[in-house]
Amino acid sequence: MIKKLLLVFIAVASAFVGRAQKIQSPQEFLGYKLGEQFTPHYRIVEYYKYIASVSKNVKLQQFGTTNEGRPLLAMFIASDENIGRLEEIRHNNMKLAGIESGTGSTSMPVVTWLSFNVHGNEPASSEASMWTLYDLVDPANTTTKAWLKNMLVVIDPCLNPDGRDRYVNFYNSVHGIVPDPSPSAREHVEPWPGGRVNHYYFDLNRDWAWQQQKETQARVGLYNQWLPQVHVDYHEQGYNAPYYFAPAAEPYHKDITKWQREFQVTIGKNNAKYFDQNGWMYFTKYEFDLLYPSYGDTYPLYNGSIGMTYEQGGISAGLAVVTRAGDTLTLVQRVAHHHSTSLSTLEIASLNTQKLLDEYKKFFDNNRTNPPGEYKTYVIKNNNNGKVSALAKMLDRNGIQYGFGLSNKTATGFNYISQKTEQFSVDANDLVVNAYQPKAVLLHVLFEPKTFIPDSATYDITAWSLPYAYGLKAYGVKESFKPANAKWGVLDPAPLTNTHAYAYVSAWQSVNDVKFLAALLKKKIKVRYAEKAFEAGGKQFTAGSLIITRAGNDNPNFDQVVTQTAASLNQEITALSTGFVDKGSDFGSDAVRVIRQPKVLLVAGEGVNSEAMGEVWHLFEAQIGYPVTLVKYQDLGRTKLGDFDVAIFPDGRYDDFPSEKLQNWIRDGGKLIAIENAVSSLVDKKGILLKRKEEKKDDKDKEKDKPVKIYGDRERTAISSSIPGAIYKLKLDNTHPLGFGLPDYYYSLKLNDDIYELFGDDDGWNVGTIKKDGYVSGFVGSESKKKINNGLLLGVQPMGRGSVVYLVDDPLFRSFWENGKLLFSNAVFMVGQ
Ligand SMILES: [Zn+2]
Repeated sequence: MIKKLLLVFIAVASAFVGRAQKIQSPQEFLGYKLGEQFTPHYRIVEYYKYIASVSKNVKLQQFGTTNEGRPLLAMFIASDENIGRLEEIRHNNMKLAGIESGTGSTSMPVVTWLSFNVHGNEPASSEASMWTLYDLVDPANTTTKAWLKNMLVVIDPCLNPDGRDRYVNFYNSVHGIVPDPSPSAREHVEPWPGGRVNHYYFDLNRDWAWQQQKETQARVGLYNQWLPQVHVDYHEQGYNAPYYFAPAAEPYHKDITKWQREFQVTIGKNNAKYFDQNGWMYFTKYEFDLLYPSYGDTYPLYNGSIGMTYEQGGISAGLAVVTRAGDTLTLVQRVAHHHSTSLSTLEIASLNTQKLLDEYKKFFDNNRTNPPGEYKTYVIKNNNNGKVSALAKMLDRNGIQYGFGLSNKTATGFNYISQKTEQFSVDANDLVVNAYQPKAVLLHVLFEPKTFIPDSATYDITAWSLPYAYGLKAYGVKESFKPANAKWGVLDPAPLTNTHAYAYVSAWQSVNDVKFLAALLKKKIKVRYAEKAFEAGGKQFTAGSLIITRAGNDNPNFDQVVTQTAASLNQEITALSTGFVDKGSDFGSDAVRVIRQPKVLLVAGEGVNSEAMGEVWHLFEAQIGYPVTLVKYQDLGRTKLGDFDVAIFPDGRYDDFPSEKLQNWIRDGGKLIAIENAVSSLVDKKGILLKRKEEKKDDKDKEKDKPVKIYGDRERTAISSSIPGAIYKLKLDNTHPLGFGLPDYYYSLKLNDDIYELFGDDDGWNVGTIKKDGYVSGFVGSESKKKINNGLLLGVQPMGRGSVVYLVDDPLFRSFWENGKLLFSNAVFMVGQ
């Protein structure tokens, strides 16, 4: 039975006093009551455009487009007095934050920003956004008019339009005349890959700080120009759960201020007031913690805002579903709940504007005068232009200020790699970040070597320190040093003196170099690589460096193609007039091999972890620009494997793997790259020599003496064998092609406690191994910690004329694990040549 819709008695609904000018409600405009059906994204856009055309209190801004071409919108809603001075309000925020010079005023309007529908298959909130917008612009609504006196509201109606439409189109295409509330009905089971993620299957609510996706780059770009005082990120969770709102669960990052904690409670209590009045169920302080910096609640918090996540129960619920409690949950109800918290949040913010602005100013004043953390300067050694440029770009996107070099040529600091305090020299092109700046908290959260993690359950990874993620040598210095130069001296490569070379050479150190290789291969330029380090033309080159010889490249425009490709990618290359090297192997020797242009197949479809697959897809298409063919796992049986040289199996569950057909393809020279659970799916299969590391027998005996497990402690017991995401240092054999261009260590983000036995000498190559003391940072349960030592995490097994590459951890995690991009590219382009 469908429960009777409860009426929402928020003050707003009853506040009609005459009508100055008729503005259509969503129901009048769309022709149905909100929640009776899903509104496709283009219709939401039409409603916002309509409001922009009839209300004088709004300004609609399109700030970007999605991968599939849908518009990204922000609606600014303000009073008659304020709508004409949006720029003044924005500049005032920037001044309060110390980002622009001048004195900001704390008697300006507060900015409250509401972000709807970041996960596409959590669609109730975009519907609710239209209702909230209407309440704010309805000329007869005196309640919201009073709020807007000292508040500017920003509504982003849908953060992930591509994902939303993927879900809505699916749902609309499968339900009957009457929605079926049976949880078993197919309308409650989304097909792969689901609507949660964007076009490249990225979770946009994990991308705020990294900004790897188009949507995030556009949105956070705009967000950082405003830096609102309050930010809400709207979600839905499993439909058996009731509503969740602030205050959040532990752990909180230590840099979250007392005020930010307290005001979460104030907001939560106001939300609760309306939920209590309506008899709606909710919970707070549970499950959704505040640690990982790339969420829609933590990122705003680390940027001075009151950042919050609100979660309605509703994923896969369609228009109606019967919950475990036996109630029928409808979209109408879900929309009403989100609408209620939207209004109550705006209400409570409007009642606290002075305090919000005072505390906001204090947050940024503290950042500039008393930044958190032990280190007041971070120095990142520039021994890798590509990676340092990528880091600099990421800092730019986050508004973190930096420069290059120091006036003092030496300093003493904590070495992230050795984990010891030592003296080091500072070069003119080393990247230097001073902590005394408006973004000090965000900087600290992103750079602290170890995040303080209380021993409690968390929702996400617990380690992300950027020097490890980028694989860069860095130091944390306790003194405050200002960088010597604003600019980097060698950002632009030196012009070539010789444009008719015997050979051109490029470094192989970062994803930029991979992009250069990809561009040359696509232009049919033959590229070789050096198996060993060498010196030529007065420069040193590591193993893996790219060598483009005139020999073998008959193209009459050879020099032009190579030099112009390099110039277009800002790629530094060295022109050599001889193949006779100063040290190492000459270019004609056996140790210099040709890189065959690989045809790459990427496995997709049911059973494959779509986000893991999306990371690979995005790397090929958007980052290095190299063709990749996506094939469904289920279709491999009828795929002509001989058309491909490389097959990539991302994280996933694979039955009958590797099939005999795949095995034959490998033996004939194919290269299979298995990642995460694709690796564990291979173990114990015919021809596969990788073996799971078994726990020692005496460890098992010890289990018997363990105390009986207590039901009330079950969450804590589960934690002991959990690893939500921690950093480990691997010993890397960088003489193997899989390790080319990397130092003799590699920082891996471990998301599981899988570990394998080392290969015997005849069986395979142990490229990345973990020793006893490999742990660096992040939460690892005590049981898992015992398990992860002395074993294999990166390996290559030759098989016939082909090979299998085992990558036990995800090298491309959310695409911010910059360090892994070269490792992965080695697996594709270098291994087995
Ligand atoms: Zn969500």
